[in-house]
This record gives sequence, structure tokens and C-alpha cells, in this order.
Amino acid sequence: MAEKSSEHEHPQNTFGWAARDTSGVLSPFDFSRRENNVDDVTIKIQYCGVCHSDLHSVKNEWGITVYPIVPGHEIAGVVTKVGNNVKKFKVGDRVGVGVMVGSCEKCENCKQDLENYCRKMILTYNAIDHDGTRTFGGYSDLVVVKEHYVLHIPDNLPLDASAPLLCAGITVYSPMKYYGMTEPGKHLGVVGLGGLGHVAVKLGKAFGLKVTVISTSPSKEKEAIDKLGADSFLISTNMDQMMKASYTLDYIIDTVSAVHSLAPLISLLKLNGKLVTVGLPNKPLELPIFPLILGRKMVGGSDIGGIKETQEMLEFCAKHNITAEIELIKMDYINTAMERLSKSDVHYRFVIDIANSFSSAS
Ligand code: NAP
Ligand code: ZN
Repeated sequence: MAEKSSEHEHPQNTFGWAARDTSGVLSPFDFSRRENNVDDVTIKIQYCGVCHSDLHSVKNEWGITVYPIVPGHEIAGVVTKVGNNVKKFKVGDRVGVGVMVGSCEKCENCKQDLENYCRKMILTYNAIDHDGTRTFGGYSDLVVVKEHYVLHIPDNLPLDASAPLLCAGITVYSPMKYYGMTEPGKHLGVVGLGGLGHVAVKLGKAFGLKVTVISTSPSKEKEAIDKLGADSFLISTNMDQMMKASYTLDYIIDTVSAVHSLAPLISLLKLNGKLVTVGLPNKPLELPIFPLILGRKMVGGSDIGGIKETQEMLEFCAKHNITAEIELIKMDYINTAMERLSKSDVHYRFVIDIANSFSSAS
């Protein structure tokens, strides 16, 4: 039997924007979503953040992209349908969906609320769902998701500026908690002041840390300090500044999306310092062993966070009034936005105003 096209395989007509090849250029795309099953929630998407992972993916920088691809895993919207078994949500609720929409729910990791480390985790886009069809992300007008993978967005958080918390927020919150990087008074370095980095600065301050930004962009210094609350700012290419700051940091979160040198960052750490990398460059980084050994330092990694922890992060952000700094764009600006993202020219997250981009088009 011939395989059905993504436009007709499901009953719910959906409109989005997709990239068709490694140029990464996005354009309008008609596809379909499954009917809302008993455990599902249908969400009218209002906003979707633009993560650098979307950019890596549309250009196939990790070598795993299947085209056409509809990116988007920082989804915020309103529930329009719930299945009969759904307990946590009702029509009209303000909700979010992050990087995953499924997992096996049986393995050791799933049982510990670490679905993000399930070997069968299903990504929100560019993955195969349980029914064998491909997943498409949030650059689209609606999505159907099993309720377990849907998050409540607290009432005091605006939907547009909290959409980026669903990926950027949890990706920095989770390692801060897991690696014990939350002790008030300790000194955190945040490398790369983009989507992930700027939320890490805000979370660091909320945990009571001293925060230093380590950046390649001198133009971001004033905002980092005045607006985001960082205590100091280092230009990573200024060797003099970097030397003077050596042995001053307890922890570092490295959010850089491109290949870069770890040695100068490790030198910033004190004895027993921890460097956690969350950026996903498409090539391996060189790991200098001597400075690690001589300072009993460690390097670790972390991948988003589980659903329970993502809800906890949203409540923490609600309590501390943390949202992303966003530049709200219409869908037809996305190709320019991607170009600017590739040049680190964003303050600090593009968010697509889906509801107002598609109302006339779909
Ligand atoms: P972003 O907004 O583009 O921020 C990345 C920042 O890195 C840039 O703003 C820039 O900051 C710095 N940078 C860029 N190129 C650089 C270079 N060549 N050398 C040094 N610094 C450079 O990206 P994002 O959305 O925050 O995502 C960051 C990375 O995390 C991406 O690789 C993404 O795929 C990955 N990610 C991982 C996870 C996970 O679960 N582990 C989740 C989401 C995203 P300055 O201008 O301050 O230098
Ligand atoms: Zn992301």
C-alpha cells in the first residue's frame, strides 16, 4: 500500500512552515495531525520560541534531519479539546509543550521522571511517533499531544515570554539542580548570552548566585548587567580579562552552539569547579585533561529535563517572575530571524506570534 502523505495521513488539517532541504529556508506547508485520542490534548498554538536547535535541525547540521521538517519545541497555547481519560487539563487551559511528546513510560529512567533520558523518547519534531507517523513541531497552528507531556503555564506568566522556558528554561534549570549549582553566594559563569544563556543568568540570580557572563559580544554587556542582573561580564576573546578572572568561578554553564575552546573556561574554575555543557555544536570539542586533574574539576552534560521537573521549573519562574526576553515576530520573518540567530544577533529569543501570523493564511 502506498504511504499516505503527511498532508492526508491524519484527519485534522494543519498549517505550518517547513524546511525542505539543507538550505534551511522555511515556507508554508500543509500537513495533518491525528484525531484527539482518549489520553490526548489538542492545543491551539499561540506562540512558539525559536531555539538554536531549530536552526541546527533545518540545516541538517547534526546529520539526522528528515525533510520536510516543521521545527518548534517551545510551544505555548490554549487547550481546545481533551480526551475522555485526560485528568490534568480542561478546554481553555493555558499550556505548553517542550522538546518531547512521548517516551516508553516503562524504563528505569521514565520511572524516575527522567523521560528526557528514555532511549525511546519521542522528540516534538523530526521523530517517529508511536503510530509510525512523523512528528512535526510548533511552527504550526495546532498540535495533539498526550497529556503527560503537556505542561501548565502558571497564571502570572505571559504565554509569549514563557514559551522559551519550555526548552531554554528547563535546559539550564535541570543541570543547575542536578549538579548542585544553586548554593547561594557561589559564583556561576554563563557562557554564551543567547536564548539559554540569558535564562541561566536570571535563574542564577534567583538562586542567589553571583553571575558572570562570558561572551563574544561586547555589545551585550550593558544589557546583561542592567537588564538581566548579571554581576559582571567577560569578553572571552580578551585574554587579559580572562587571565585576571582565572580561579574565580565555582560553576559554569556553557550554552555555546558552535565549536569553541574549553581550556580558557576550565581555567576560570576554582578547585572542584564544575563545567556543564548544554550547547550542541556539530563537531566534538577538545577536552584538556591537565587543568581538570590539577584542579579536581569536572565537565558534565545535560539534556533538557523531565516533565515533572519542567513543571517545577515553571512554578519556580512564576514565583520569581522569570520569563524570557523576547523579540516577537510574525511567521513570515522566520528566515531573517534564523539568519540573525546564526550571527548571535537576538535579544534574546525570537518568539513567533503564531495566532496572528496564521489567522488569514489558514
Ligand atoms: P543562541 O540563542 O544562538 O545562543 C548561543 C550563544 O552562543 C550566542 O548567542 C553567542 O553568545 C554564543 N556563540 C555563538 N557562536 C559562538 C562561537 N563560535 N564561539 C563562542 N560563542 C558563540 O542558542 P540557544 O538557543 O541558546 O542554544 C544554544 C545551544 O544549546 C545550541 O547548540 C542548541 O542546539 C543547544 N541546546 C541544547 C539543549 C540541551 O538539552 N542540551 C536544549 C536546547 C538547546 P555571545 O554573543 O554572548 O557570545
Ligand atoms: Zn530547544
